[in-house]
Amino acid sequence: MKRARFLIALLMLPLLAGCRPHGRETCEAPGDNPIRYELTAMDTFMTMTIYNQPGDVAQRRLRQAAELLQELEGLLSVTDEDSEIYTANHSGGAPAALSDDTRQLLEEALALCEETEGALDVTVYPLVRAWGFTTGEYRVPEEAELSALLENVGYTRVALDGNTLALPAGMELDLGAVAKGYAGDRIMDLFRSTGMLYSIVELGGNVQALGTKPDGSPWRVAVQAPEGGYAGALEIVGKAVVTSGGYQRYFAQDGQIYCHIMDPATGRPVENGLASVTIVADRGIQADALSTALFVMGRERAEAYWRAHQDFDFILLGEDGTAAVTEGLEDSFSLYGDWEDHPLEIIRK
Ligand code: AMP
Ligand code: MG
Repeated sequence: MKRARFLIALLMLPLLAGCRPHGRETCEAPGDNPIRYELTAMDTFMTMTIYNQPGDVAQRRLRQAAELLQELEGLLSVTDEDSEIYTANHSGGAPAALSDDTRQLLEEALALCEETEGALDVTVYPLVRAWGFTTGEYRVPEEAELSALLENVGYTRVALDGNTLALPAGMELDLGAVAKGYAGDRIMDLFRSTGMLYSIVELGGNVQALGTKPDGSPWRVAVQAPEGGYAGALEIVGKAVVTSGGYQRYFAQDGQIYCHIMDPATGRPVENGLASVTIVADRGIQADALSTALFVMGRERAEAYWRAHQDFDFILLGEDGTAAVTEGLEDSFSLYGDWEDHPLEIIRK
């Protein structure tokens, strides 16, 4: 958490020149007048910044956004016994009623599971738990245990009918791969509809921005290097930028690295040579879902998926130091820092 906080602080630096907020304090700089809010929700340190508004107006909106995040956490948490997801996961096969937010998120997530042919699968929770990622008590399950768990994994058996969800007994949902993207979309909608036109949020590495910076220039977003520090910088106007990386959460055992993203086809942590996938898309939920899914797919399938869809762009960093971007980012992404001298491959249609 400390490390994440440090990286986020660094990431926001160029946006907040001359301004060093503390805890929930806000701060004001002449000109752009950034008002910033920090909180921890969904187990993640988050920052939200609104520019170019009177302080009290921006603060009211930021508080509203924070409440929204806490509400969503209350609905979607896998560990909070009062959450809708916890209730559904422990319903023993009985139908459970969902709020509109959970229904909408799940509906969109299931569509993306389908579109990615199950590389994204919101029913991987039993696997995530078996490998110890829910508690930090990491272990490598036996093959027989994984085969038994895989019986309960498979998004196609999730029955969603309006706001009623029926999960087969033993199946458990985990919306961790998409929840922050959805939350970011809800916040962007709130800011847009209330005229907070220059704003950016960072929800634990999911960056979402509205429009440009107040001076009309693009927002600059740093892309982390797997080994720490930064690998590159990206300029965006009104986009979502989401990274999934094996280095974000992992454990090592007997010289082998096991990361927190599962290949639903095998029940095992992904291991395909990719270090991270960053997606740039209009919507947070799409960027979040695809960062996880394309990480599972590996380079070749990820490229094929992009060619078939093309409504997003991506940046791939390989464990071997290779870097590749789709052609839509050719002019807006550059490698820097320790990665400055690495070759950057452009993936074309
Ligand atoms: P992200 O950081 O967005 O890539 O999401 C990773 C989180 O989603 C993990 O910590 C798991 O809780 C969950 N997850 C892991 N593998 C998958 C998968 N293949 N499909 C959907 N969710 C997953
Ligand atoms: Mg994701």
